[in-house]
Amino acid sequence: MSAERIVIVGAGPAGLSTARAYRACGGEAEVTLVGEEPLLPYRRPPLTKELVRGELGAHELAIETEDWFAANDVKLLRGARVTSIAPEEGVVTLESYVRLPAETIVLAAGSRPARPPIAGAEHPDVHTIRTLADSERVIAALDSGQRAVVVGTGFIGCELAASLALRGVAVTLIGQERLPQLARLGELAARRIAAWLAELGVELRGESSLAAVHEGRIVELDDKSRHDACAVILATGVHPRGELAQASGIQTSDAGAVIVDAAMRARSAHGNVLAVGDVACAFNACAGRHLRVEHWGDALGHGEVAGRTLAHGDGCWEEVPGFWSTIGAHTLKYAAWGDGFEDARTVSAPDGSFTVWYERDGATVGVLTHERDEDYERGRELIAAGEPAP
Ligand SMILES: Cc1cc2nc3c(=O)[nH]c(=O)nc-3n(C[C@H](O)[C@H](O)[C@H](O)COP(=O)(O)OP(=O)(O)OC[C@H]3O[C@@H](n4cnc5c(N)ncnc54)[C@H](O)[C@@H]3O)c2cc1C
Repeated sequence: MSAERIVIVGAGPAGLSTARAYRACGGEAEVTLVGEEPLLPYRRPPLTKELVRGELGAHELAIETEDWFAANDVKLLRGARVTSIAPEEGVVTLESYVRLPAETIVLAAGSRPARPPIAGAEHPDVHTIRTLADSERVIAALDSGQRAVVVGTGFIGCELAASLALRGVAVTLIGQERLPQLARLGELAARRIAAWLAELGVELRGESSLAAVHEGRIVELDDKSRHDACAVILATGVHPRGELAQASGIQTSDAGAVIVDAAMRARSAHGNVLAVGDVACAFNACAGRHLRVEHWGDALGHGEVAGRTLAHGDGCWEEVPGFWSTIGAHTLKYAAWGDGFEDARTVSAPDGSFTVWYERDGATVGVLTHERDEDYERGRELIAAGEPAP
């Protein structure tokens, strides 16, 4: 790929990893990483975990130091938002109207929190968590003993509810499913997560839907019950930030993610455009289909593939996607293609550790483990090989 000047839009893990891998592969083009946040690229996973629990400070989150950027000749523009890309002209335009020449554009814009379409969800006092600033606002809004309502029982909602409870905050967690992540993970895992939350004193209200938020702090549910809180936090999913691609005619999925091949190349009529991380819907060569994942490790992995594609033209994404989540003191590891299963079989031990094997058409399509790393690693191999679960 011709790549005299590479501009990477988005300074999260996927963007940074692209720059890092490109240099590691010997790429010598000029590289500019543009990020709208004012910070060095930083780790998001602690924003609902160690940071909230007070175990890590904001200054400990950076992925690389300033020195790394200088030593690797990667120009980092912080607090700079890209407003448009024109691959056919080879230009990336910033909000400040600065135009950056770019023979190659890498879209690494991540995703933004989704707010449900109900009255009051857009109120400025209703929180979401994506950035360090978001997390700090939530922490500042809640003293010990005060009440928070967290809406959404996905991993972000469960982690945040547990971490806030450990800070002494009284937490009500609202979810549409009977148990957290029942459809995604199956009955046993969902029960375990519910039990871990209960141990921490989190009040779980399943089978409940948000009807409205009043004045930014009173949650009304579909059963008309009202729940007052000092902070309401929506953890109701994310949308990929594919709008720059859409506006420049690059193919996106129905969900708005940029469709890329296994080398992370987008389908663009003109110019070299790649997409990585949460914003990408990438072809996984091992799965044989496009997948969209929202995982830290896969954002880094996409970047490694893109860096290789840019330097040598032969990057290929074939890893089984996977992530971890920590709910209070309990860590779950999950690897899966992520597009459904037919059977879930659980192996649990008296010490509380467990593994859930997920199968479809006789092949392993996912594995979830708690304190059973050897099963997790074995599971990844079985998923990649398309073999049955043990
Ligand atoms: C609170 C939280 C906890 C998480 N915990 C886990 C976990 O435990 N395990 C796990 O595997 N995953 C976890 N994730 C998911 C993981 O963090 C994401 O999948 C990962 O950050 C995606 O990386 P990315 O680089 O694609 O996007 P992002 O990390 O979102 O980075 C994209 C960056 O691009 C910037 N940007 C966007 N548009 C523009 C523009 N137009 N101009 C300039 N800059 C722009 C954004 O501001 C952002 O800084 C968590 C996510 C969150 C929010």
